[in-house]
Amino acid sequence: MTSVNLKTGGLGWMLWLFLAGGVVAGMGDDKSKRMVLTESDPEYVRNENYPEKWFRVLRKGIDTTREYLGNYGPLCVYIIGQEKDELKSDAVADRIIEAYCRNRHGEAEDRVQDCLRRKGGSLVERARDGSTEAYLSYVDFLDKPLAELVFINPHGFPMPYLHTRGIHEYAHVFQRAHARTPTWLTEGGAEFLAFYLGDKHDWIDFEKSMEGSMRMARKVKKGEASLIDFEDVGKIEKERPHLKKYYRHLAYDAGAWAVALLIHRSESRSVKQFMTKFYPMLDEKGWRSAVCRYGGYGDINAFYSAFAKQLEQPEKEQMKLLRVIKP
Ligand SMILES: [Zn+2]
Repeated sequence: MTSVNLKTGGLGWMLWLFLAGGVVAGMGDDKSKRMVLTESDPEYVRNENYPEKWFRVLRKGIDTTREYLGNYGPLCVYIIGQEKDELKSDAVADRIIEAYCRNRHGEAEDRVQDCLRRKGGSLVERARDGSTEAYLSYVDFLDKPLAELVFINPHGFPMPYLHTRGIHEYAHVFQRAHARTPTWLTEGGAEFLAFYLGDKHDWIDFEKSMEGSMRMARKVKKGEASLIDFEDVGKIEKERPHLKKYYRHLAYDAGAWAVALLIHRSESRSVKQFMTKFYPMLDEKGWRSAVCRYGGYGDINAFYSAFAKQLEQPEKEQMKLLRVIKP
């Protein structure tokens, strides 16, 4: 199981990271444990006394992205929220926990019972405590893996960005149908797509969002950390925890720009082709080779230096790069 947790606080983004088991890029990349194209719709589990608008916004973001990237699964989406006292009743809470444990553990009754005893991994408790979270949890101990998108108190996300959270999280489901990528490419790819598709649907402005990301990426002190340090966030966690404060700046914000650079450097400069051509290339010789081939770089260091140069460019030049990117 893996989950990367992105919470919002009043003063900006705070990040929580849970890592457990073969989740790090390059580890445990068993093809039978990947998401597959499916005919089935995602299953939604939610407490229906929580205002429906949050569910509708998230579903719209997810559906938009399913249309764009293809319908991958099996996928369960949990929307658990409390604006007033919707989760006060144990009956409401238990229904969610029961569905969660049964979806997750299927026929393995002992595991279901264990999950129920643990109250479904404290899902409802976190919602009752007022936590705001959105993450993909990838359950790969089953024969057929299951993707769970968990949204806790989504009303806590700043509004236009709730649309794009659905896009971002579903992009991770799509990524799970392919070979693993480094953290910056995983988060950057999801973030870039969220901005790009979000703009197509007039939820947010692509250029403004990318500008915001550039500002964040540039806040990192030169020489202290860069994109290359966020190839494996699990390793950062263990070996250099002081750099974790840059998780958002580098994996998400710089990552989105790194993806923009790759698309810009590709033959077609097309966002769609990045999704359909780049991701399958990962299986040929791994992500480093895919990045080099797709962007026309001699080696991965050439890519990282080109990216560092891109960060130094004046804003006008950076925007030029975005404007030649094609659909
Ligand atoms: Zn993410």
